[in-house]
Amino acid sequence: MRAEVLGVGTELLLGQIANTNAQWISERLAEIGVDVVRHQVVGDNAERIVDAFRVAASRADVVIATGGLGPTQDDITRPALAAAAGLELVRRPEIEDALRERFAQMGREMPESNLLQADVPDGGRSITPHRGSAPGLIVQIGGAQVYALPGVPAEMREMMESTVMPELAALAGPSGIASRIVRCVGMAESKIAELLDDLFTRSTNPTVAYLAGGGEVKIRLTAKAVSLGGAQELIGPLAEEVVARLGDVVFTTGDEELEQVVARELKARGLTIACAESLTGGGLAARLSTAPGSSTFFRGSAVCYTA
Ligand code: ATP
Ligand code: MG
Repeated sequence: MRAEVLGVGTELLLGQIANTNAQWISERLAEIGVDVVRHQVVGDNAERIVDAFRVAASRADVVIATGGLGPTQDDITRPALAAAAGLELVRRPEIEDALRERFAQMGREMPESNLLQADVPDGGRSITPHRGSAPGLIVQIGGAQVYALPGVPAEMREMMESTVMPELAALAGPSGIASRIVRCVGMAESKIAELLDDLFTRSTNPTVAYLAGGGEVKIRLTAKAVSLGGAQELIGPLAEEVVARLGDVVFTTGDEELEQVVARELKARGLTIACAESLTGGGLAARLSTAPGSSTFFRGSAVCYTA
């Protein structure tokens, strides 16, 4: 099953916020074996949102959009989704009642504009919100199942957990995607790729990707199987072979930073460390001192910049 994630909001295009919704959704979909094949971002512009929905629905089985479901003039995902699906918006009395009750409970008068949130494309479904006021929407566009969720991360997550994930897991059948990252320091990316070349020309599942940056090279192994556990099992032997070939340039295959590994090794050997830094301006000291219990092995650092 192929999915596309669509972020709606001009603030995303202006770089004012990062598209963490797409990141979070993609991570969750991988857990249930749904392949995310594209991320798309579009501003608060009706024509472009309609176009984005149509294009996404034409090339994916599932589209998950976030943002633009609020009651203000710049929130136009609801009518754009209806237009893309060729459906009329109809006001749902039960959503209207729920909205009125929500405001009454807060002791506030409901602005008329909030009623727009009771509109659902005719023939579509809605997802009841528990945190916010904006219901999510579900419509079919051609062969694609399209979900529109609120932009506020907590509201989006709630609907993903309650509705989207269970629905997609049922549609996708038993499946899981797992990744493991082998992290290396002290060897160039090109040299690493050369040493592992034959392994990866042979392997299509797991697949491999190299990511260099921040003074290290990450080798990401990703596998797909009928379950998350099955995918993890596929990765195991390949990860072991990678570590055996690269030797001690590998500092971890787990969820830990270099300074945590250094801390662990020093503590295990009963050693301490002191640094003399110049160009790094104390950067080494900053990293070493973040590890828990760093006072047991880190003696300090002298930073001498200009003589
Ligand atoms: P609201 O009812 O708050 O207007 P909405 O569904 O209309 O919700 P937006 O107005 O698009 O959503 O976004 C509300 C807030 O949610 C944004 O100001 C931003 O903080 C956050 N947000 C929106 N989209 C994303 C995204 N893709 N990733 C992370 N945060 C986001
Ligand atoms: Mg909004």
